[in-house]
Amino acid sequence: MTQSLLSIIIPAFNEADNIALIYNALSEQLNDTGYKYELLYIDDGSADETLKNIQHLAAQHEQVKYVSFTRNFGKESAILAGLQHAKGEATIIIDADLQHPSMLLPEMIKGYEEGYDQVLAQRDRKGESRMRAAFSDLYYSIMNKLADVDLQNGVGDFRLLSRRAVQAVLSLSEGNRFSKGIFSWIGFQHKVVFYENVERQEGESKWSFAKLLNYGIEGLVSFNHKPLRICLYTGLLVLLLSIFYITITFIQILQHGIDVPGYFTTISAVLFLGGVQLLSLGVIGEYIGRIYYESKQRPHYLVQESNTSRSQA
Ligand code: UDP
Ligand code: MG
Repeated sequence: MTQSLLSIIIPAFNEADNIALIYNALSEQLNDTGYKYELLYIDDGSADETLKNIQHLAAQHEQVKYVSFTRNFGKESAILAGLQHAKGEATIIIDADLQHPSMLLPEMIKGYEEGYDQVLAQRDRKGESRMRAAFSDLYYSIMNKLADVDLQNGVGDFRLLSRRAVQAVLSLSEGNRFSKGIFSWIGFQHKVVFYENVERQEGESKWSFAKLLNYGIEGLVSFNHKPLRICLYTGLLVLLLSIFYITITFIQILQHGIDVPGYFTTISAVLFLGGVQLLSLGVIGEYIGRIYYESKQRPHYLVQESNTSRSQA
């Protein structure tokens, strides 16, 4: 009987110390599953020894594959490259920093064998700063009210996708990739497995607050145009209010003449309207920016070197 192949995608950006650790952790879990597997490292333009360590591993173990980018293209691009190069009948995406417990793999594979096309791992937010946890709660509640896809707090990129699901993800060709949204958008039967949040062992998180904020906005506007609609309504409301105000004031002036020069009202109106306009312009700008990037049709990443080939376009 030919064994089926599992692909494990590991995006790595400056994770030199974690390359061997994650290899050991994964192979320990995978050796008894009865599957053949490939560990597909995506070196996202690391500046440290990450690539060297991966190549060193690849020389020793034939199941180690890698794709190395010419520069840092971001985790979303790394995941895309992984999916495009993965050859397995099922694919698991896991962080290189050991924050995603590899112990979960057998359970995820079991879910796949039960016939689920997606098996997602959901974590609690233990050990995370209270600020960050509060912000992500807020973000998810806004997001789920606004966006057309359903996102769950604590569910990230750590998941298993069947070949069908991978194909579906790859069929979405957009340039601004927001994987969380895409994974939810494609649908399919899914199963959730739970785990406890683990703190990072080596290196440090690559997410600054600014990066997280950008990522959040990305998610919001990639998946719906409701912010545009909100602008429209706010604009409309403000317009109606000001017409009402102008009419009333005008009638009063006709009846009583001008009394006090309305310094306060003028200033507040200017400020308020200015604010609404800037907000609306900002939202429109977001969408135009997206059109700009899409229209350029740039590749999501460039490969410097690799020991594997693409399995799909
Ligand atoms: N990563 C990447 N490219 C980047 C940033 C991060 O490939 O530009 C990888 C990183 O090496 C890690 C995973 O994505 O394997 C998650 O990154 P990180 O641990 O910084 O994020 P966090 O766990 O804090 O959300
Ligand atoms: Mg991490």
